[in-house]
Amino acid sequence: MKKLMIDLDETICTGGYLEAVNEYLKTDYKDTDIETYFVEDIMEDEEKEKFLDYFYKNVNIYKNIHMIPDSIKVIEALSHEYEIYITTAFVDKRRVYESGVMAMYKYQWIVENMPFIDPKKIILTGSKDIVMCDIKIDDKVSNLKGYGDIKLLLTQPHNEKFTLEELDEAGIRRVHDWAQVKAILLKDGESL
Ligand SMILES: [Mg+2]
Repeated sequence: MKKLMIDLDETICTGGYLEAVNEYLKTDYKDTDIETYFVEDIMEDEEKEKFLDYFYKNVNIYKNIHMIPDSIKVIEALSHEYEIYITTAFVDKRRVYESGVMAMYKYQWIVENMPFIDPKKIILTGSKDIVMCDIKIDDKVSNLKGYGDIKLLLTQPHNEKFTLEELDEAGIRRVHDWAQVKAILLKDGESL
């Protein structure tokens, strides 16, 4: 079986960070309003520091997260044909100790929502590029560097700035939704 590495945030589920920022700032930003990768980068430095203290003490974003349409259904179908690793970064260098809780939140959310994934194939890391695999799916271009014969970038507002030519040069193919992932990776229910 080929090894397939799939990112979690903004690839399988989305929205929790934005909701936390909106609640903190009492704003109503939509994801299309945010062009930065980290939502909190819309804040001034001093405010951002206060937000980070509040965030790691009070917020589990996975309690209010939204599923990206079809993600779970397609991953379950893929799990019959591929060896799947959910690979997600959790280390926040701005709050090294405090960000440890994210490893627990992420692990528990994956176990609860994707029971078909072997818990031993959940990779909580800060170094995705050293993970050997055949196929990668992520919403962040830099996470698609390194190993992989097929690299799929799931479109999100923050990565729309990358042109098809730039992606092509890096060996990355853009996909707009999970139906497209399924069409690429499953041919009549069989793997490539
Ligand atoms: Mg992501």
